[in-house]
Amino acid sequence: MTKQRALFLDRDGVINHRIIGGYVTSPSEFVLDADILPLLAMAHNAGYILVVITNQQGIGKGLMTLDDLHAVHQQMNSLIHRHLGFQINHIYACTSLASENDPRRKPSPGMLLDAIEDLDIDPSASWFVGDSITDAQAGRAAGVHTVLIGQHPENAADIVVADVGSVPASLLGNLHGRDDV
Ligand SMILES: [Mg+2]
Repeated sequence: MTKQRALFLDRDGVINHRIIGGYVTSPSEFVLDADILPLLAMAHNAGYILVVITNQQGIGKGLMTLDDLHAVHQQMNSLIHRHLGFQINHIYACTSLASENDPRRKPSPGMLLDAIEDLDIDPSASWFVGDSITDAQAGRAAGVHTVLIGQHPENAADIVVADVGSVPASLLGNLHGRDDV
């Protein structure tokens, strides 16, 4: 059976506005970045599954609960569904503190590797879009193609773009030449 292709997405700074130095602890603090919607739509239409890969150490710090995180993610999917008629398929979150050296916490690739195994994903046909260097590091360690958003060195990822709206949709069609998409 053909393995699945995934568009992996970091959450804060990619799907929603990042709260500098803080955490999105409640649905009302989750502000969707509408500029990501066209990429989500194209990926969905091209048959990619959408998988969020997010560090959320605000839980490890006791600033929010797992229930808070679930409520934020319900809000995320409800907003995306309202705009596009579909949702993020899977969400992987690492709630450990940075100091715990959890192999799932980015820049380690654990969450990506878990998803690749759980969902039978072909990493070489998949992309990870993030806004932190640690996203690209995790992506490279997991063998997926990488896109970085923001001010980064050109060689920090396969593709570096200035903002969310500049991620080239062509990346979704450039792999493995499937002609049924
Ligand atoms: Mg981010």
